[in-house]
Amino acid sequence: MKKDIFSLQGKVCVITGGYQGIGEIVTGFIADAGADVAIFDLNDATHVAEKVSKEYGVKAKAYICDVTDPQAVQAAIDAAAQDFGTLDLLFDNAGICLHKAALDCTPDDWRKVIDVNLNGIYYVAQIFGKYLADHGKGGSIVMTASMSATIVNIPQKQASYNASKAAVKHLAKSLAVEWVDKGIRVNSISPGYIRTAITELSDPEYQKLWIASIPYGRMGTPEELAGAVIYLLSDASTYTSGADLIIDGCFTVV
Ligand code: NDP
Repeated sequence: MKKDIFSLQGKVCVITGGYQGIGEIVTGFIADAGADVAIFDLNDATHVAEKVSKEYGVKAKAYICDVTDPQAVQAAIDAAAQDFGTLDLLFDNAGICLHKAALDCTPDDWRKVIDVNLNGIYYVAQIFGKYLADHGKGGSIVMTASMSATIVNIPQKQASYNASKAAVKHLAKSLAVEWVDKGIRVNSISPGYIRTAITELSDPEYQKLWIASIPYGRMGTPEELAGAVIYLLSDASTYTSGADLIIDGCFTVV
């Protein structure tokens, strides 16, 4: 048995949505596992890059990138590949949420959620996958779906979000099969309610109701997702592709 099967030493990992929340915290754990990190976000995540570089002695750099713009994604992947010399791993995580009843959703509301949560996840995975294939390299991709890919949350109305996340889960499975022969693994994680801006800026009454429905009696933290991401990125999961790991404090179990 290899000694440190969870090590990401010698790898370069791209993380999207790394300015804050899940992406920011998981970036620290990925760096702690030894990977150099390229952080993509709409916002300038230089503070995250500087922090993890100082704490873990890895190379880290932030790139401003709107994942809904395939040209911007291509430019950021090209720049990161140039800066780091190679790319190996992807945590494809940027996403947004909209609480709005389907009957009130405008076409623009719908398009925005699908554009970030599904199209953005796809553009980054596709362009990253093409980079790997063009360089004859295998790699591992982890997408952030949600328990909303599997269940319908209440009382908030968020059909666009739920549909986008169900699509991400199945996109991961589809690419996993399509890219088996390229040695590229693709998995997803499905977090439950996690304490970040997305949940903390939600209606406090909703938050109370959510917590009352979670068997754990609390929301999760971004730190509690890191182990799953590292497992799926690392050589600990070489026979795992197309899997979805639900991490939700038992929310979907009951
Ligand atoms: P945050 O809002 O805290 O972080 C998301 C980051 O992604 C922000 O910096 C955001 O920027 C950025 N972002 C948004 N749109 C784009 C874009 N077009 N291009 C690049 N970056 C973008 O959210 P979380 O950390 O909570 O969420 C991360 C992922 O986890 C999302 O996919 C979310 O759906 C998923 N998730 C979250 C759960 C939770 O309870 N928190 C539960 C299940 C899944 P800006 O703030 O400017 O929009």
